[in-house]
Formats: sequence, C-alpha cells, structure tokens
Amino acid sequence: MKKTLIAALFAVAGLGTVQADTNSLGLDTDYRSATPSVESVLGYPIGSRISSPAAMYDYFNALQQAHPDQVKLFNYGETWEGRPLYYVAISSPENVATLGDFKEGMQALANPQRTSADEAQRLINELPASIWLSYGVHGNEISSPEAAMLTAWHLLAADDQATQDMLANTVVFIDPIQNPDGRSRFVSRYYMNTGMEHSADRISVEHNEPWPNGRSNHYLFDLNRDWIALTQPEVSGQVEELLETYPLIFVDLHEMGGDQTYYFTPEARPYNPLIAKSQRESLWTIGENNGRWFDEQGFDYFTREIFDAFYPGYGASWPLYHGTLAMTYEMASARGHKFRTEDGEILTYGDGVQRHFIASLATIETASNERKRLLQDFWNYRNQAIEEGKESDERYIVIDSKQDPAASKRLAGLLTQHGVQVQQSAESFEACGVDLSAGSYVIDTAQPAHFMVRTLLDEQVNMAPDFLAEQERLRSNNLPDQIYDVTAWSLPLMFNLEQQRCARLPRVELSQVSGELIAPGELTNPDAEVAFVAAWGDMNSGRLLTAALRDGLSVKQSDLAFTFKDGTRYPAGSLIFTRADNPDDLSSRLAELAIASGQGPRCRYQLDCRRSELRFKQCPTSACTTYRIGLG
Ligand SMILES: [Zn+2]
Repeated sequence: MKKTLIAALFAVAGLGTVQADTNSLGLDTDYRSATPSVESVLGYPIGSRISSPAAMYDYFNALQQAHPDQVKLFNYGETWEGRPLYYVAISSPENVATLGDFKEGMQALANPQRTSADEAQRLINELPASIWLSYGVHGNEISSPEAAMLTAWHLLAADDQATQDMLANTVVFIDPIQNPDGRSRFVSRYYMNTGMEHSADRISVEHNEPWPNGRSNHYLFDLNRDWIALTQPEVSGQVEELLETYPLIFVDLHEMGGDQTYYFTPEARPYNPLIAKSQRESLWTIGENNGRWFDEQGFDYFTREIFDAFYPGYGASWPLYHGTLAMTYEMASARGHKFRTEDGEILTYGDGVQRHFIASLATIETASNERKRLLQDFWNYRNQAIEEGKESDERYIVIDSKQDPAASKRLAGLLTQHGVQVQQSAESFEACGVDLSAGSYVIDTAQPAHFMVRTLLDEQVNMAPDFLAEQERLRSNNLPDQIYDVTAWSLPLMFNLEQQRCARLPRVELSQVSGELIAPGELTNPDAEVAFVAAWGDMNSGRLLTAALRDGLSVKQSDLAFTFKDGTRYPAGSLIFTRADNPDDLSSRLAELAIASGQGPRCRYQLDCRRSELRFKQCPTSACTTYRIGLG
C-alpha cells in the first residue's frame, strides 16, 4: 500500500500564521477524497488556525452529510449562550445501522439484575467495543477540539485494513467540544490580540488572557469540577448520554502548561480506593499502547507524576464508578499558534493537535484489540458491584426526608441523575435502630452503581497510609504535597443530611424515585384575607423568594421567630406576602410559584397575631435576585 504522509495536512499555513508542524506521522494508509477535510470545509489546513465552535459544528455536519452511513450526530443540549452541545458516533456502516441495538445491548450488560448470564455472553461475543473521546472541556485548552476533527476525518478517510478493523470492532463516540462558550471566548479574544506575525513570547499580549479566561463556561463554572453537582448543561447533558451508551473507555483530553510534554494514564497517586483493581490494570494496558505509539513518533510523554485519581467529580473519573475505564490526557499548551518553551524550543498549535490525534488513535486501537475482554470486564464489574453491596454490613442507606424535605428530595433526584437506583418509602418504618418517617429515601447498595453510590455518599474516603505518610514527610520538609486537587465531596454532608446505614431492612412499601429535584409546593388556605406566610430555612423558601421578587410581588420578612396562636412556629426570616401590598391575584400567583419552587406559603397571617409583635423589612430586591429558580 502506498504510504501517504499525513504531514500534508499540516503543511500549509496562511500569511501571518505560524507554520503548523510538518513532521511526518508516517501512518501507513491512503485517504479517500470523498471525506471532506477541514481545509475543504473551513478553508484552512488543520492545525493552522484555532477553529471556532461554529466552524467545528459545520465540519461535523459536513462529515455526517458525506458519510451518513458511518456518522451520526446527536445533540444533547444547548449552552447558556445558545451554542449546540453534541457528539458524533463514528463506526462501520454495519455498526451505525444497528446503533439502537448496540445501546440496548450495553443497557443489558449494565443491568445484570435483568440480564441472564447466557444473554450477557451472547452480547459480549457480538457487540462492538465503545470509546468516548471528550475534547475541549476547558475552552482555553485549544488543541484537543482540533484533534477531534482530525481523528474523525482520519477514521472516515483512511482506507487501510487496520482502520477498517478498528471501525468494525469499535463504536467511536466523539464529543468534539464540551465547552463551546469558553472556547468561543478564547478564540475571539486571541485573534483580536494577534498581529501579522504571531508571537511565541510568553509575555506577549496574545499569550496573556484577561479575566475571565476561556477555561470556564458562560457562568464561569469549571466544568471539570461539576460532575458531582451536575449544575451545568454541558455536564448534565453529557452524563445523560453516558448513561445511555455506557462506553467501555472514556478519555477527557486537556492541555497543561507549555513547558510540559504529554501526559496519559496511568494516573498519579492517590487512587480512590473505590476504583476496581481490574480497572487500574486496564488503565496500564491503555497507557502502554499509547506509549508504543508515542515512541514510534518520537514524542515525549510521562505518566504517574501528576493528575491523581482520587476526586470522582472530574470528567476523567466520574465514568469509572459505573465500570468505564476513564482517564485524562494532557498536552503542553501553545496557548496560541506558537510558544517558546523554557528550553528555547518553539511549541506549535499543530504539535498539540498531532499528539492528541495520535493518543486518540492509540486508545481506539486498544479498544478495538481488547474488545471482548473490555466487554467481559464491564459485565463482571457490574456484577461485582451488586455482590459488594450484598456482602456489606452497610447494604442499605436510608435518609429520613423529614430532616429537610427540600434537600433530601434534591439529593435523591441528583443521585437518580447519576444513574443510581433510589427508592422512597410510602410508610413510616424502623430501620438501622431509628424511627424513619414516611417518604424516607432508601438506597440498596446491592446495585450495579454500587461504587458510584459509595463514592458520592461515603463521608470518608481514605488515601493509602503510605501515601499519607509521604505527604507528612513532605510537609515536615516544607515541601508541597502531591495531591492534585479536591479531597472532600460527600453529598450528604454538603446537603447537611444525616444518613443511616445497616445490613437489613424490614419489609416496607417502596417506590422508585425520578430525577426530579423539586417536589411541587402547595398554597394552603388561598382565601386568606390578610397575608400568606412561608417558613424560611431551606432551598425551597429561597427559591420562592427569588421567584416572587421576579414576579414583581412585594415580600416582607420577619426579623424574629414568631408563633401563631395555633402553636405553629415560624423561624426568623419567614416570608410574608400581605394582601395590602400585592395585587388582587396574589393567591393564584403564589399558588403557581409554590408549584415551581417547592415551597408553599402554608399559613394565613392571622389578625389576632398582633402586628406590633413583628418587625417587617422590605427585602432588598437587588441582593436577592441573583439565584436561578429551580436550577437543576
Ligand atoms: Zn483542562
């Protein structure tokens, strides 16, 4: 077969742009001209310009149009600034035609409770492997989205047997740009600050991003820390898709400081102890194959030195707790077209694109070569998760909803969004040595998401003793520790909820909980003549306040706690909506707000509760309206 050099893709650069890397990657393949290249669609050679999110969307649509039998584009949401969130599935025509069956097959393997061992074996023999490549979660880590386009183009255009085998064996999911708003901010600012010649100088204006830089999304969330709270559409949308597809391998491709080289798995210590041994071993296998490809290219790289696997709320770690092999890749960033490193070399944007491309291909190859073993490991993992729960002295986790109905509802809904099965009791019962009210939430940890439950709900996740001892040694020598980032995240602690854990549960009527985060509130006594009062003190009352202010209602607040004649006690801060200060349709408007916010003003403000006992103050509108109502 004729050896075509992919270097051609990197060869040309327009006037005023840095020449992208022209080193040959030497891939042994021919390329089909029927596949549109970045240059034919966007007008510039790949690697010679930092593509805008809009251009990238055009490119992936062009690929789908050119190869409808091999590419399917799925939208999974919209950013705050209105940009599409999407991924593509790329595979052989046979696999793409049966994508629905593939997803059903993965759902069956993910749920051993409803899948027989024989059926699982059939699926393991027949299903393709799957890999999910997520690029550009940090908008100013620029080279990986470009590599997403190059990877997609290569998979579709290369006509060698090895690539065809990879596509027959593997469904490749590409999420080319997880944070389009952040990238857009970077790209427009960057080109606004460049001249005819790009500068490699790290103190040049083009290399100095002003605040806010492109890393975060529109509301300045670091999306790579939102995988536990799931507050942002870029993350929650992707989580929904991952729970549909259960990819066997997940890679999150980033950039780091420009003086580094390239990082891939295995991760640095500390490891989260809830990561399975088989997963850690497979991460080594993936790293070794990446190393082989990088060695062939003569690319520098390192493993295990930084980027630990402790916090579960990174994109590169969350999928681990469902049985996926998840990891991060990091490329030294040119943070523009070119960058002079500390040792005087020029690192280019094209260098980053090439390396992320090679790492992507190498990992797809591992998925393809290890297809059957990865499927078997995934099935084993989901079974092992159930067994771990069954054998645990803390098999059942119970959260009494009475301690804070709003917070416990939100936690239960959030866990459901994480793919955890949560149930709710219809009656009061006694378990774990305590009385629990009707409506309490029950999590049976003997479920395929056992490790996800544990890592989200355990109050303490330990680091290995020898690792901790080493950190103490470093501290005593006044040296920095080796922990990359977040070390605490327990959701019940964050929601201020107590949990009970025990081995057995009495027979109690339970129903499945949905992903809803808010239980609709109710306005009682709508004919109240003087006022409505809503108790202050939880998420619902905060939501009701902001919703009422947005709706133009007048809200008063009591500085002191007070008690009605009937004995109902209202804490300081309780909200008071008087008839006198509000429009005639107050009760119907409050009824609607109660449904949306979860908080119902429960009580008529009674005439015989003497006004002089209460002090009112007008709520400062400007200070109260910065919250979003019903934010998921
Ligand atoms: Zn990053």
